[in-house]
Amino acid sequence: MEFKYSSLGDRLTRGSGIQELMHDLGSALSESPDMLMLGGGNPAAIPEVQAIWRRRMQEILDDPAGFDAMLGNYDTPQGRPVFMDALCDFLNQRYGWGLTRKNITITNGSQNAFFYLFNMLAGSGRKILLPLSPEYIGYADQGLEDGLFVSCPARIEKIGERSFKYRIDFDRLEIDDSIGAICVSRPTNPSGNVITDDELRRLRDLAKQHGIPLIVDSAYGAPFPHIIFQDVTPMWDESMVVSLSLSKLGLPGTRTGILIANEEITRGMGEINAVVNLANGNIGQEIVAPMLVSGEIETVSREIIQPFYAGKAAFAKEKFASVMPQDVPWRLHANEGSMFFWCWIEGLSGGSAELYRRLKERGVIVVSGHYFFYGLAEEWSHANECIRIHSAMPTDSIERGFDIIADVLKNG
Ligand code: PLP
Repeated sequence: MEFKYSSLGDRLTRGSGIQELMHDLGSALSESPDMLMLGGGNPAAIPEVQAIWRRRMQEILDDPAGFDAMLGNYDTPQGRPVFMDALCDFLNQRYGWGLTRKNITITNGSQNAFFYLFNMLAGSGRKILLPLSPEYIGYADQGLEDGLFVSCPARIEKIGERSFKYRIDFDRLEIDDSIGAICVSRPTNPSGNVITDDELRRLRDLAKQHGIPLIVDSAYGAPFPHIIFQDVTPMWDESMVVSLSLSKLGLPGTRTGILIANEEITRGMGEINAVVNLANGNIGQEIVAPMLVSGEIETVSREIIQPFYAGKAAFAKEKFASVMPQDVPWRLHANEGSMFFWCWIEGLSGGSAELYRRLKERGVIVVSGHYFFYGLAEEWSHANECIRIHSAMPTDSIERGFDIIADVLKNG
């Protein structure tokens, strides 16, 4: 028997980049373990960090009253008070942001936060402006209506023979009454670009001028998990919405996202939480709260997680450069943060979706770059010339995967 979906049901189930990516990720992890998974955004398994989560779980179990309260009680729709207070103190001490608990909303992962936020601030003609396309695939289908995003193509700066970097093209950025918010990920998924402090300040000032929020997605950024390979200043004021996540610390299974914003936005988010979820999962908050108080979360990020990803990226970069065919015009985006390599093959024949398909046939999963270029007003050939590669997978997957990518690029 076939039941009929609503138009929203159709929209959310019709197949999208993020759905393909998460299905690939899920089946590679469970059904096809032989696949070389260089696609999804799963955080790497870092033994020292995994040991810390196990230790924290044991500490929670050793406190029966705390454990029972964690499992047995709903939190407030805005989050777990003890976690929110610890987070405010942590951020205020380091950055002087003057936050109170009312400036925080917790969500079931930051993906969940963006769904609320985008639909709360845009729709019925109002749009979210992405000032630097390509941008995170996971936003693309979050609008409850079509056409929620308008994107500005990045300006490409070629660096030497094999590298390049995206810059925000401020001359092409158009902000009028139809824009409800500006959003950027920093570090950017997919490219590993980190917009500079200066670019961020300019965006914040532009947003302020137009009375709209600037949303900064710091899923990979500072102060945790700090998968960022250069000095940047975390920034927040009342005109900004900063999103953090526990996922890339190695806790994606806890589904914990954190939104820092003015009280109007956090209250709205809490209200939506109440309608959609009643309350959030609280296990991630319980695990991490004391590590905010002690500052351990920062030490773990800076002394274990960041060096781990930096080491992986250095290894992968060397391998990539040594195997990729010299006569193919490939370039890697400057690797400034995140866990991805963003490879641009100028003039790629057949396009990136075809390259994804051919690689999958050979047992390697990457992500076709075209998914990251939504919301553009005009066709852009560059949008079909890139692939995203997870650079922090196990050494063997990187080595065998890169050999296959090189072979496919060379021989088709
Ligand atoms: N933002 C970016 C840039 C991401 O890459 C991801 C996940 O990969 C998310 C947000 C959502 O992460 P989560 O919902 O696990 O917090």
